[in-house]
Amino acid sequence: MLPIDEALATLLEATPVLPFESVPLDVATGRILQEDVLADRDYPDFDKSLMDGFAVIASDLKRGLGPLLVLEEITAGDDPDRLREVTPGSASRIMTGAPVPPGADAVLMVEETATVPGQPERVLPKAPVEPGANLARRGADVRAGDLLLRAGTFLGPAETGVLASTGRTPVRVGGLPRLSVLSTGDELVEPDATPARGRIRNSNGPLLLALARRSGGVARSLGIAPDEPERLRALVTKGLEEDVLVLSGGVSMGSRDLVGETLRSLGVEILFERVAIKPGKPFTAGRRAGTIVLGCPGNPASTYVIFQFFGRAVLRRLMGAPDPAIRTVKGILAGPVRQRTGRAGYYQARATVTDGTLRVEIVPSTGSADFVSCARGNALAVIPSDVSEVAAGALVDVVLLDDRG
Ligand code: AMP
Ligand code: MG
Repeated sequence: MLPIDEALATLLEATPVLPFESVPLDVATGRILQEDVLADRDYPDFDKSLMDGFAVIASDLKRGLGPLLVLEEITAGDDPDRLREVTPGSASRIMTGAPVPPGADAVLMVEETATVPGQPERVLPKAPVEPGANLARRGADVRAGDLLLRAGTFLGPAETGVLASTGRTPVRVGGLPRLSVLSTGDELVEPDATPARGRIRNSNGPLLLALARRSGGVARSLGIAPDEPERLRALVTKGLEEDVLVLSGGVSMGSRDLVGETLRSLGVEILFERVAIKPGKPFTAGRRAGTIVLGCPGNPASTYVIFQFFGRAVLRRLMGAPDPAIRTVKGILAGPVRQRTGRAGYYQARATVTDGTLRVEIVPSTGSADFVSCARGNALAVIPSDVSEVAAGALVDVVLLDDRG
C-alpha cells in the first residue's frame, strides 16, 4: 500500500504536460495561461473622465462661481488630440470615459451644476472642485509593460477580462485534456433504466464525466463494460486513445475484478494498485505511452474522493499547471474524529466560514457506498494516516471542492 504522497508523486511524474497552443480568447477560459501578459499600453491611455459633468479649471471655480462658457460636448470614444483647450471662464461638457481636454484639471459632476436660464451655451457651477477630482490620469490603473497575469495562472472570468482588455487573442495556453470514462460491472444499468432485482444504476459514469468536465477536461462516455474479458478489453482499448482513461469498478480482489489483468494484457504499465487512503484503497493507476489510466474503486464515495484528489491533479499537470497537486487550506474541525491508523482519512465535509474562520463539519456517512454523502459536503477533511484521534477544535487540512485555482 503506497502512502498517498508517494502515489501522487508517482502518478504526476508519469503524466505528461500536453503541448501548449494558441487559442482565441473565447475558448481560453478554463485553460492555464502559458505566457506572461504585460500591459500593451497605459490604462487609461489618456486622461479620462470618471463622471458625467463638466471639464473645468479647478482654480477658476475657487475664485467665484460665475457661469462658464461651454465649449463643446466630449463623449466616450472622442479623439483626445482633437479637443478644444479649456481656458479660464470656460468648460466642456464631458461624459464618463471621455478624454479630458487640455487645460482642464478637474471634472465637476453634473449634479453640482445648474443651467443658466436663456443661456444654453453656459453652465453654472454650484460648488468648487479639487484639482484632479473625478478624473483618472493616463496610466492611473496600469502602466505600459506592467505584469498583469503570470504564466501558470488559471484563466477564470476575471482573467479573461484582462486578456480582452489588453487585446491578447489568440493567447498561449496549456493543452485541453481528453478523457474517456468507462464504468465496469455486470450489475450496472444506465440511469434512465429501471434496475432489475440485484442490479443498480451506473452513477459513477455520470459522476466522473461531471468531475472531468468541471476540472477542465473534455470527457466522453464509453458506457458500461460487463465483467467479461473480451468486451472489457475492447472498450479499454478504445479508452486508451485519449489522454486519460478513467475506469470505475473492477479493481478489488473479487473473482470478477478484471481491470488490472485487462490493463496489463494491453501493455499498460501499472504504477500502483493500492493506496493508503480511505476511502479508495484499491485505486489502480497505470500508463501506456501518452495515456494515463485511473482505475477508481467502484464504490461511489471512493470514486469521488479518488478523482477529486488524484484525477484533478493529473488534469492540472496535463494542462500545464506549475503546481498540479490539489492544495489544502486549514480549517477547524467541528467534532471529534476517530479512525484506524494506516490510511489517510478523506472525509466528506461541509466547510463554512464563520467569523472569518473556516470550520469543517464531517458529513455523516454509512461508508464508501454512500452516494449521497458526497452531495452533502463541499470539502474533504483530511486526517493523516498515523493519526487515530482528532479532537473537536483541532486544525486539519481541508480540500475545498469548489476551488478551481
Ligand atoms: P467493484 O469495485 O467493482 O467491486 O464495486 C464495488 C461496489 O461499487 C459494488 O457494490 C458495485 O456494485 C459498486 N459500483 C461499481 N460500479 C459502480 C457504478 N458505476 N456506479 C455505482 N456503483 C458502482
Ligand atoms: Mg465490479
